[in-house]
Amino acid sequence: MKVPSSETQETMHKEARSSYFDLPALDLSVAFPQATPASVFPPCTSDYYQLDDLLTSEEQAVKMKVRNCMEKEVAPVMTKYWEKAEFPFEVVPKLGSLGVVGGTIKGYGCPGLSITASAIVLSEMARVDASCSTFILVHASLAMLTIALCGSEEQKQKYLPSLAELKSVACWGLTEPDYGSDASALKTTARKVDGGWILEGQKRWIGNSTFADLLVIFARNTATNQINGFIIKKDAPGLQATKIENKIGLRMVQNGDIIMKGVFVPDEDRLPGVNSFQDTSKVLAVSRVMVSWQPIGIAMGVYDMCHRYLKERKQFGAPLAAFQLNQQKLVQMLGNIQGMILVGWRLCKMYESGKITPGRASLGKSWITSKAREVVSLGRELLGGNGILADFLVAKAFCDLEPIYTYEGTYDVNMLVTGREITGIASFKPAVLSQRSRL
Ligand SMILES: Cc1cc2nc3c(=O)[nH]c(=O)nc-3n(C[C@H](O)[C@H](O)[C@H](O)COP(=O)(O)OP(=O)(O)OC[C@H]3O[C@@H](n4cnc5c(N)ncnc54)[C@H](O)[C@@H]3O)c2cc1C
Repeated sequence: MKVPSSETQETMHKEARSSYFDLPALDLSVAFPQATPASVFPPCTSDYYQLDDLLTSEEQAVKMKVRNCMEKEVAPVMTKYWEKAEFPFEVVPKLGSLGVVGGTIKGYGCPGLSITASAIVLSEMARVDASCSTFILVHASLAMLTIALCGSEEQKQKYLPSLAELKSVACWGLTEPDYGSDASALKTTARKVDGGWILEGQKRWIGNSTFADLLVIFARNTATNQINGFIIKKDAPGLQATKIENKIGLRMVQNGDIIMKGVFVPDEDRLPGVNSFQDTSKVLAVSRVMVSWQPIGIAMGVYDMCHRYLKERKQFGAPLAAFQLNQQKLVQMLGNIQGMILVGWRLCKMYESGKITPGRASLGKSWITSKAREVVSLGRELLGGNGILADFLVAKAFCDLEPIYTYEGTYDVNMLVTGREITGIASFKPAVLSQRSRL
């Protein structure tokens, strides 16, 4: 057999590759004619126990406004952006025009919603796309809320109105490469100089940071050794934010590694209300309730998709919904969702009546997230091969839940926060063996 020359081989290779990459995108309506993809979002079918009755008419109106926008404006484009791991800037003005950004914050152009309405905004976003929900969580429930709770009157007036309209975007930087769960030990420093502060250090995983106009950053005051908070502007000299690539979940969220080399922050941009790590807990008390509603929304969307898909696709001459095993999985998912909503709703009510504690919020986040993990895993099974295609939502939701299981305190660390509260004993640090074992 005559072996082609290396030049001919190279040409053949190129031709084969170019014809492969020139193929049109798979037309799902031809490939899987029985099933409607997630760009046409399925109706909401998960409110089996009519938990909507727990909401006020205002909360129900907010829910429907966000749901309509997400189903019509975000669902048709989300797979494309998720696949490319790009942020969907085209939907930002649409989310801004909903008038819900800023959640519970009153005044300064913010909506002043109830905590339940604010949580429902996030769950309705997560039902269709968890990346959009995380974008708003970081921007509003972390960054804006820190300014609202810990900022000066001038800072609130200056920054909150444009953040509420999404004319500017913020991020929130606590985690560092060496300090994740152990965030209170963070090493970024803030040194006082004439007229301001010099920040030095690194942050990791910071959502929205590659394009945020404002960066809320926590750093250790070199004089007091306490944690302080600062607002850094996007173009500050010495500031660099690089996108973290190759994420398998929340792919539209632009998480960044931030490096600060001698970044100058004027006195007017130090947050006067952050004087110790405990001050961040005012913000986390709200945001941990908020983040609990993201898995609720994700689970609802997955259930809705499975409910439609099982009726549309047939095997053995019957719709998939007709098989007992599939019905059992669907009902298990539905049962989980009823329980998750009830716990999430109770967290909101306890917050409103001043009864929320770190342990209660942490148990809510951990438990709800673990039940959602079960839901997305069952959903992935139910869709068979299409359960690994982003076009049918479930695979995407399956992946998106993983970072939520980890951020705002991992499942384990949140469980230990509750464990400390109910036993009075903190178990975060391993016991140091002071004596040699006799065994
Ligand atoms: C997609 C994404 C977005 C994020 N966005 C932001 C953001 O916008 N801003 C921000 O500041 N941070 C953000 N984070 C960071 C996030 O909060 C941290 O990833 C999280 O706190 C966990 O820290 P780590 O990744 O360093 O894990 P580690 O702390 O290294 O934990 C690894 C494992 O060890 C376990 N573990 C750790 N300590 C203990 C302990 N004491 N006892 C028992 N088990 C323990 C954990 O549960 C986990 O299973 C984001 C993270 C992700 C993945």
